[in-house]
Amino acid sequence: DILVIGSLNMDLVTVTNRMPTVGETIIGKRFDQIPGGKGANQAAAMARLNGNVTMIGRVGEDLFGKALIESLKKDGVNVNFIKEDKKLSTGIATITVDGDGNNSIIVIPGANYGVDKDDIDENINLFNKSKIVLSQLEIPIDTVEYCLKIAKENGNYTILNPAPAKVLSYNLIKNIDLLTPNETELEIISGMKINNFDDVIKASKLLIDKGVKELIVTLGSEGSLYINKDIEKKFNAYKVDAVDTTAAGDSFNGGIVVSVIEGKSMDEAIDFASKVGALTVMKEGAQSSLPYRDEIDNFKE
Ligand code: ADP
Repeated sequence: DILVIGSLNMDLVTVTNRMPTVGETIIGKRFDQIPGGKGANQAAAMARLNGNVTMIGRVGEDLFGKALIESLKKDGVNVNFIKEDKKLSTGIATITVDGDGNNSIIVIPGANYGVDKDDIDENINLFNKSKIVLSQLEIPIDTVEYCLKIAKENGNYTILNPAPAKVLSYNLIKNIDLLTPNETELEIISGMKINNFDDVIKASKLLIDKGVKELIVTLGSEGSLYINKDIEKKFNAYKVDAVDTTAAGDSFNGGIVVSVIEGKSMDEAIDFASKVGALTVMKEGAQSSLPYRDEIDNFKE
């Protein structure tokens, strides 16, 4: 089984011809309410790919929280261990998209920042039942660090999707089996400016020297790089018409986890995940764009 510890957000998306200036009120075009948050996106992605997924996280005691839980449940995620925080509101992101497709976003983490050690300690048995533990950085980093420590003590394979990027302590790094940054996240985590593909390799090697066992660096439409201390291998992305890249990284991570748990090789897992990512960018929104297993199996470039 797969255990995800991470965030849930309701994305409140307004579409407008142009952004309002400060102090101005304008009439926009459309409003959508789309489940998001990297933790929930990755959990939903894996459930749609037929993974057996349990999620640990927090929402507030409000309607957004109930809607987010309901949506994950509908996708087949085990939501029994998502708590309602007594004090904090459900995480939200207000997203404004203009006529050129540019967006500006405000995130209020709310209950996501309430996820703490207790959420791990109360659910130790879930670690025993799981093979892979996956997390991101939209919950407190101390909680992630503790979670990966417990996971390694339980013999789990640990994956950290380090988004949004933060500098990682040695105590966190030493418990990561697979790190999955995109290019900008890799820059922040390695502290190295990246100008070209050689720099991606150099920055990845810096992290391997610090104790990360394997990395997959995602490079958008350029594909991805797999690297460990012995091997480096570049994978191309599938060629598709991208309309919205939201959640591409999330679904890609989900694809990797589901393949690995099915016993596939890393090469096969990356190919599968690249199809998942490609299908995701063909649709708008976060969880609204995540593909289902049969779409991957029938995918043709
Ligand atoms: P993030 O969303 O975290 O920035 P990326 O944009 O790197 O992640 O996307 C993750 C993966 O999804 C890529 O490695 C690639 O396989 C796939 N992908 C992303 N954008 C595209 C695209 N425009 N066309 C095809 N595949 C894509």
